[in-house]
Amino acid sequence: MNNFFLPLKVNVHLTNYCSYECDYCFFKEKKELNKEKMSLEIIDKIIFFMKYYKVPLVSICGGDPLLSENFLYLSEELLKNKNYIVVATNANNLTFDYVKKMKKIGIRYLQIGIDRISNLKEINYKEDGHILKMLKSIEKLKKVGIKYGIATCVTKENIAELFEVVNFAKKNGAELLKISFYIGNIPKYKLKNDEKEKLLNKIKKYNKKNENYIKTNLIEESLHYSSKYPTITITTVGEVLVEENNLKLGNIMDDDIGKLYYNYIKELK
Ligand code: SF4
Repeated sequence: MNNFFLPLKVNVHLTNYCSYECDYCFFKEKKELNKEKMSLEIIDKIIFFMKYYKVPLVSICGGDPLLSENFLYLSEELLKNKNYIVVATNANNLTFDYVKKMKKIGIRYLQIGIDRISNLKEINYKEDGHILKMLKSIEKLKKVGIKYGIATCVTKENIAELFEVVNFAKKNGAELLKISFYIGNIPKYKLKNDEKEKLLNKIKKYNKKNENYIKTNLIEESLHYSSKYPTITITTVGEVLVEENNLKLGNIMDDDIGKLYYNYIKELK
């Protein structure tokens, strides 16, 4: 009997392919966009370890994980094993057929990325008509009863519009709005610390009157849970990284990832 374990939440980068090429994309900046899809061997290892260590929450993201031909397989296996999943997608091409398949295997929640409320590509960086397209996808989700939230990456360019996105999310029935801050190095998008602080204070005020509608890791009370055990990310090539500092612990194809994580936590103490 060992004491190995995994954190409450594990992120899985199922693919770094995406239908878009947002200028501020983390993968684009690292020149990794549209380069790699997770192999079935790695996916099967993930299914095994998530079950073995009873991980409560698995966030399936990318790129756009819905572009992976193995997305439904991974989701179904995790759900069968009682790992709750959240899917982070841009949901830009949802057909009714696909939405029904997601519902059938038990997917209950999608996190849809929307950064600006504009239908113009030169502003939203995705495509002309983006918001209209999103609304069509959202209608399909509502019809089958899959809930959704909106995720926004805040940059220097859209910070002034954040509350427009909040209003859009509320008006269209999103359960919540999750924000993260741009973490790259392009000056045009990079926020200064005082700009972030100012926004966080505004969010705190807003949240007091709106039942913590805006969630961010930087405001603990806005989250549904918090944990002293940091989240890990499994990349498309199976690398196991600590989310908060990107430290590489090893590779899922070579190691017991519960052991890797246990050793990391032990060293921190
Ligand atoms: S939608 Fe997301 S993953 Fe796709 S290019 Fe834009 S930022 Fe990157």
